[in-house]
Amino acid sequence: MNHFQYVNGILHAEAVPVPAVAEAIGTPFYCYSTATLERHFQVLKDAVSGLDALICYAIKANSNLAVIRTLAARGAGADVVSGGELRRALAAGVPADRIVFSGVGKTPDELAFALDSGILEINVESEPELEELNALALARGVRAPIGLRVNPDVDAHTHEKITTGRKEDKFGIEWTRAPQILRRAAAMPGLELASIAVHIGSQLTELAPFADAFRRLRDLVLSLRSEGISVRRLDLGGGLGIPYDDQPPPTPADYAGVIRETLGDLGGRLVLEPGRMLGGNAGILVSRGIYVKEGETRRFVICDAGMNDLVRPAMYSAFHTILPVAEPAPGTPLAPVDVVGPICESADTFAKQRPLPPLGRGDLIAFATAGAYGAAMSSIYNSRLLIPEVLVKGDDFAVVRPRQTYEEMLGADRIPAWL
Ligand SMILES: *Cc1c(COP(=O)(O)O)cnc(C)c1O
Repeated sequence: MNHFQYVNGILHAEAVPVPAVAEAIGTPFYCYSTATLERHFQVLKDAVSGLDALICYAIKANSNLAVIRTLAARGAGADVVSGGELRRALAAGVPADRIVFSGVGKTPDELAFALDSGILEINVESEPELEELNALALARGVRAPIGLRVNPDVDAHTHEKITTGRKEDKFGIEWTRAPQILRRAAAMPGLELASIAVHIGSQLTELAPFADAFRRLRDLVLSLRSEGISVRRLDLGGGLGIPYDDQPPPTPADYAGVIRETLGDLGGRLVLEPGRMLGGNAGILVSRGIYVKEGETRRFVICDAGMNDLVRPAMYSAFHTILPVAEPAPGTPLAPVDVVGPICESADTFAKQRPLPPLGRGDLIAFATAGAYGAAMSSIYNSRLLIPEVLVKGDDFAVVRPRQTYEEMLGADRIPAWL
């Protein structure tokens, strides 16, 4: 469910007509709904009620400060994967003791900053990282609260590029070596082993891989306990899929059911790290048709958004529903079109042979479900300016990232003295 609906034949974000935003700031732009962000957070919170669970929003999905703050105001913590994201979480007002730092390649500088910030835990993914963090903590005279991310060797059955929990993936401590390395971590004087973490992938559309991973985690916890090593928290990662097309993924309630079944009786605190599930449906990308090009076999709608603005179709062959902002009259015939951007790559194609109502020059369209891994993955490829982001609340909207200017883009480069 989201808050992008047609009202009197015009697509609205909550109570704001999308053309009014286009009029005010031009196209393309991202538009997020406060009500949808809050609703998704609440749905997940309700689903895990009764469990002692901290929801740490994975801010890599959408790291706009206003989006983070909207969720933080509801009680969300943050899962961050870089020093930049840690700074964003802090700047948005997430309390340090609700921040988890994940990632396979944290630099010593990033680890030091995390330690000095007093965050909840640093999820360590390798032995060299354990050693690095141990040394940094000892040098400061502190104990670093850590989670050890283990790789449960489970296939998440998702897109190859976003599956993270098989042994051939780069993430986490290999399953067969996990007990040994957990023992080692528990004995290191600069570390406090607070948690064991898993995260098996993104956009999961089945529950079975979660159940497998959580059962393995359970076995690991119980066998460690029998040796006298216990952890206070379990971090279950993110990954719950969202509907991009008509295939509904499992609901948060079903997902919570799996957590209860597999881990509910273990005690201790749970950390959840949803990204896409909170942000995905809460955003659209609005674009305008520049030209309609009639090919011999195809009709191309060339729009002013490109793969630099929304890379998911090019990178993951992802599907995004395309909505004409002016609602087509009932019975309007659909014809297949290719919706493409202006970038000099054939990958810059949002949809191939998509049945759509007639679209003309200047018509506005919206790519649905673009709130996660949209703006956050954008670039200035082809020297196209970063596009604005707008947050709607009721009948009000605010530009939460202005369109970059050509001066800013050019000003980022330096010409060396010898030229
Ligand atoms: C990306 C990531 C998440 C969030 O994944 P979603 O599919 O967006 O829920 C959570 N935890 C970790 C460690 C991640 O890398």
